[in-house]
Amino acid sequence: MSEAARRFLIGMLAFLLAGAIIGWMYGRPDLGLLVAALLALAWQVRKLLGFERALRTGNFDAFRFGEGIWEQLFSRFRFESEKSARHKKSYRQLLREIRKSTNAMPDGAVILNAENEIIACNRAAKHLVGLRRKKDRGQRVDNFIRDPELSRLLQSGDIGWSVEIASPLVDYKWLNCRLVGYGADQKLLLVRDVTERIRLSKMRRDFVANASHELRSPLTVISGYLDSLADDEQMPRSWEKAVAQMRAQAKRMQHILGELLELSRLEGSAREGSEESVDVVELMNEARLAFDGHTDIAGIVVNAESTTQLHGKAAEIETVIINLLSNAIRYTPPDGNITLTWRSDASGGELVVADTGEGIDAEFIPRLTERFFRVDKGRSRDEGGTGLGLAIVKHVLLRHDAKLVIKSEPGKGSEFCCRFPAKRLLVAEPVALS
Ligand code: ADP
Repeated sequence: MSEAARRFLIGMLAFLLAGAIIGWMYGRPDLGLLVAALLALAWQVRKLLGFERALRTGNFDAFRFGEGIWEQLFSRFRFESEKSARHKKSYRQLLREIRKSTNAMPDGAVILNAENEIIACNRAAKHLVGLRRKKDRGQRVDNFIRDPELSRLLQSGDIGWSVEIASPLVDYKWLNCRLVGYGADQKLLLVRDVTERIRLSKMRRDFVANASHELRSPLTVISGYLDSLADDEQMPRSWEKAVAQMRAQAKRMQHILGELLELSRLEGSAREGSEESVDVVELMNEARLAFDGHTDIAGIVVNAESTTQLHGKAAEIETVIINLLSNAIRYTPPDGNITLTWRSDASGGELVVADTGEGIDAEFIPRLTERFFRVDKGRSRDEGGTGLGLAIVKHVLLRHDAKLVIKSEPGKGSEFCCRFPAKRLLVAEPVALS
């Protein structure tokens, strides 16, 4: 108990006691006590009403608190209210700073609730997608940005995933939209102008596709003449080695150009299109059969753990299997084993190519899907590799909403696992029993 509270209680008791003594002198101590209690109560009620008025009007000078508990209460109140005013001021200042910095951000930021309705947005959101901070509050964001990819992203609520969409305001602009988790049941939609990046990557893609295309025709002519030269019985024997080498290099160049064109096609063409049900196990068996009869390669086993079919493009899934299988063959000694597995459950499907080959150092794994990246350039070249196989695999998987997970241990082997989401699996209709 504070000193003021103790003094207040002692004063109260002394006052009541004095009342009782005076009453006793007149032969009515109970009446004296009652009168003293009523007087004390009236005094405190007066103070309380005065305090309430001062609180209401904010005019504390008009109210005299005097000393004691009321003065203590008043100074405590004044201290707390000044503290809260100071906090309020600094919060307001902080809020102003935050608003200033979010408005200075070049990226649009839109706070959405669980129903994808706009709670707040910054200035960049206005320039990029035309949102008005006050007028559009409470509206669904997909009413302003009408794009199927964005609607899919908002519906899935896939935090961390991003989509690229055409600007709803300017024809040639491209925007990257990303969802970020934010508070309970809230999300932050980040919108970034990626027009320049998309323009550059299109330029690069077009350049590679055009250059590959232009190189293909002269190379076909050169290869044709080299083939005729090799078949010509009158060719001097001293030329044989040189012609054989030229034919092998021309073949290699044709292979690289073919893969570059394939990559450009995968990057450039739309994801949607004619997709069908793909029997992954059948494709695996066909790929295995293609290597039947080769005696100098590792044994290949197909492990069909599921009969579920995949929704996708069969030709592209076949490319994935062939690329992963030829890599496994290339980097596994003939006495090793290669297993192709297809499995599925409620969470999705997995196409796995595992080998007991030489394996890959952990430091190289994140770079394997880069174009022309090879752990051992000379070795890959000698084995007929282009360094484009896994880049092609990655792009096909992207088009099928799947991802590539690589596990490997040097000297023990590697596992290339393509994970498809459950929405890509075709679940068979249950057969009705008669
Ligand atoms: P490449 O045509 O050179 O095989 P890829 O893009 O298919 O190009 O593979 C990139 C690199 O990844 C290869 O050069 C090789 O170093 C490594 N790699 C791929 N698959 C395997 C595997 N199964 N075992 C060991 N290394 C592999």
